[in-house]
Amino acid sequence: MIIKRKVEEMLSYLEDSSNLQEGKAEVLYIPEDEKEIIEAIAECRDKKIPLTVSAGGTGTVGGRIPLEGAILSVERLDKIISIDPQRKRAILQSGVLIEDFLKELGERNLFYPPFPTERTAFIGGNVSTNASGEYSYRFGSTRGYVKKIKVILSTGEVLEIERGKYFADKNGNIEFENKKIKIPSYLTPPIKCSAGYFSRPGMDLIDLFIGSEGTLGLITRVEVELIPALSLPFIMVVFFKENKGLKFVSEVKRSRKLNPLSLEYFDRGSLGFLKKDFPNIPDRSKEAIYIEEEESKNILEEWIGLIEQYPVDDTWLGEDSKSYQKLLDFRHKLPENINEYFKKIGSRKMALDIAVPENSFPEIFNFYQTLRLNNQEIENILFGHIGENHLHFNFFPKDEKEKEAVGNLFIQALKKGISSGGTVSAEHGIGKMKHKYLELMYGKKGIDEMVRIKKEIDPYGLFGLDNIFPKSRI
Ligand SMILES: Cc1cc2nc3c(=O)[nH]c(=O)nc-3n(C[C@H](O)[C@H](O)[C@H](O)COP(=O)(O)OP(=O)(O)OC[C@H]3O[C@@H](n4cnc5c(N)ncnc54)[C@H](O)[C@@H]3O)c2cc1C
Repeated sequence: MIIKRKVEEMLSYLEDSSNLQEGKAEVLYIPEDEKEIIEAIAECRDKKIPLTVSAGGTGTVGGRIPLEGAILSVERLDKIISIDPQRKRAILQSGVLIEDFLKELGERNLFYPPFPTERTAFIGGNVSTNASGEYSYRFGSTRGYVKKIKVILSTGEVLEIERGKYFADKNGNIEFENKKIKIPSYLTPPIKCSAGYFSRPGMDLIDLFIGSEGTLGLITRVEVELIPALSLPFIMVVFFKENKGLKFVSEVKRSRKLNPLSLEYFDRGSLGFLKKDFPNIPDRSKEAIYIEEEESKNILEEWIGLIEQYPVDDTWLGEDSKSYQKLLDFRHKLPENINEYFKKIGSRKMALDIAVPENSFPEIFNFYQTLRLNNQEIENILFGHIGENHLHFNFFPKDEKEKEAVGNLFIQALKKGISSGGTVSAEHGIGKMKHKYLELMYGKKGIDEMVRIKKEIDPYGLFGLDNIFPKSRI
């Protein structure tokens, strides 16, 4: 096992995409196998120091950044153990890079539907945050495709949790191995959601671990479901002269013929953020919608027929591999540029990640417009997964006064989203940055119930200190 104790050797592990600056650790373990992981866990247990699991480091809420104690990086658990084209299953070590996995599948004409957007993430990081991907409009998030996980607990026990094996009974208890836990009394909303421990009546134990942000144990192995490769996709970006994006998307959703893989929204500010990379973005456009769809007979004509009914400045089409890649970059570049900008202005990421049920979306969308009208002096942009009623609202405060104002308007937006049946985190998780938001969503009782479960499964309080709930609760 590689063990590092010098601060300068650990620096790259003290950051992720959140720009959280508080990272600190005394030791970094880089094990090669489960035996070494169990040794590292035992050492932390003996020394009574917390252990933070580190994967690809692409998280946006500081989940892999330790506040103290040890880091365990799964980077050397990077083997694709098997890909079975008949059963449509793959078994992976948790440190497999998404990019490598997708490449292997492409060569076998198979596809992993969560299709995570950030390809430098690891599969274990995706499972731990219940990540969503480029096609989550059609396929949903990681949760729907995880069939089995192997987890090492702080006691050193190794659990193999297969979907369909352990369920909550009618009293809300799940019994597994020598344990019995009671699931929380709150309900995880039936929308895109990555906020706290999953909880539904009759739920499967595996769903408690998916999205648990490294607080219950260390996932060493994951088995996922695959589908046959999709037919060739194409991309369109429609630039609207007026604010008609929402109406356009509602029409797409009502259509029986259109079945996009993704529907993404870009406001005027987002287009401004992309202008340096894509100078031909029409200057006057108010909004853009990015559409990805599979090639099929007459489908392009269907899309063009709909687009022609709207006042648009331009429509870009990416069909051949070069233009397709260019438009894909158009989508990917924005979150990257935003994260860079937060670094440049020296601010932690200040972004909302609310999703709401379909029928509440127009209301929250209009509420966002009111909030920005009332706070015009603070730079902000709104973009994201409009197909899933889930937008990222990013604010770039210039000083402490503006930061405070952003904090206040976030609370207003979150309360509005929650009262509409929404979630405070649709995909990035809670990490160390959204504790307050999670409490708004589930109340103190909900947090207490999560802490109780954490203590039962991780009696040494070893894993993921300060993730999901504040460290003072452990
Ligand atoms: C440009 C960009 C675009 C993004 N787009 C999206 C998007 O579209 N959708 C989306 O959902 N996310 C997105 N993200 C966020 C990020 O990619 C996801 O949250 C991802 O799942 C994190 O994986 P990671 O391997 O980088 O994990 P890390 O950041 O290293 O860790 C994330 C959390 O998981 C825990 N963890 C990791 N591995 C394990 C393990 N084996 N066992 C137990 N706990 C573990 C860590 O302790 C931490 O709490 C984006 C990020 C960037 C930078």
